[in-house]
Amino acid sequence: QAIKNDVEIKGAFKQYGSNIVLNGINLGVKQGELLTLLGPSGCGKTTTLNLIAGFLEADEGDVYIKGKKVTKVPPFKRDLGMVFQTYSLFPHMTVYENLSFGLKLRKVAKPEQKKKIDRALELVKMSGLENRYPRELSGGQRQRVAISRALVVEPELLLLDEPLSNLDAKLRHELRAEIKRLQKEIGVTTIFVTHDQEEALSISDRVVVMNAGKIEQISSPTSIYNHPDTEFVFQFIGKSNSFEGKITSVDSRKISVQMENEITHVDVGNIMGTDRACKVGDEVKLYIRPEKICIAAAAENVSGLSLDLHKASITQLNYLGTSWEVAVSLLGKPLQILTPDFDSSWQAGSEVYVGWSPSDIMLIKK
Ligand code: ADP
Ligand code: MG
Repeated sequence: QAIKNDVEIKGAFKQYGSNIVLNGINLGVKQGELLTLLGPSGCGKTTTLNLIAGFLEADEGDVYIKGKKVTKVPPFKRDLGMVFQTYSLFPHMTVYENLSFGLKLRKVAKPEQKKKIDRALELVKMSGLENRYPRELSGGQRQRVAISRALVVEPELLLLDEPLSNLDAKLRHELRAEIKRLQKEIGVTTIFVTHDQEEALSISDRVVVMNAGKIEQISSPTSIYNHPDTEFVFQFIGKSNSFEGKITSVDSRKISVQMENEITHVDVGNIMGTDRACKVGDEVKLYIRPEKICIAAAAENVSGLSLDLHKASITQLNYLGTSWEVAVSLLGKPLQILTPDFDSSWQAGSEVYVGWSPSDIMLIKK
């Protein structure tokens, strides 16, 4: 294989009593990439990370770091830096002492320690706060120090378990941009855990979507969002609308689906699920994201779409600052639309046209 994996998990199973927590995890993390484990609470993200860190051994399966099997190797021999959601720092030690701890263990000489600590604090913009105790720092500063402490030993691997979950929204945005910059700057292979889909999309090279101990999809953020493999990924990763219909024709490029007495088209590449062989007569479910739907007062104003225009009526309008959230009724069912284009004459009850491109609608067999 040409692609070099820094970390690999092969066939991991883990069970607590009757609770199957990891149900066959196979995963490769490439050298220098930032890979995110994303999924709802309880899906097995921390368990997977603990397997890589060595805090936990799977019932079945192996872990490899740099091509070496480490399944039985204890955490302190795995050369990792770790950051957790809370309690990452030693409370009775200053910032400087927190950072020197790992260096002392590795028998780094004092002057060399100072150099490394200065640089590690500079990386996270915490220079000058060496003598503070964790209780004298804000939540964001503490996590900066925790990241700095993980990096100061120059680990082969950086593991971050929901490091931003306890911070307020603004700080969370700032710090995630910083982690991304820092990670690219030093090039350390990083596994980041979060349950926040926007955070995962914004920070990652690749995202692993997990659900109930299984991996649903591993892809780039844009593929995860625009071309989800499964219904779970579609629904978990963003807002969605869904319809039901029946296939009326299939050719090499498009599938036609009848919904009540209207027809819509779907690109053949947009089928989700394990069974992707579609034929006429199949009952299907269609999914589309609110911002992929165009809306206009007249049919000819729906930009660039000759196909798939449907008459609908507005039921509710919400102003969101950068866009409008428009709820319409289409074929008697609710449809959510997010649009920057807004006609000031619209109100509840207005008749409008809605449309979408066959490339923006996803299909799954029922
Ligand atoms: P996540 O990090 O995705 O929220 P975890 O990996 O922490 O999920 O946990 C996955 C599942 O395993 C949960 O149902 C959790 O209750 C269970 N679990 C985790 N650790 C233990 C343990 N030590 N004993 C029993 N059940 C556990
Ligand atoms: Mg967790």
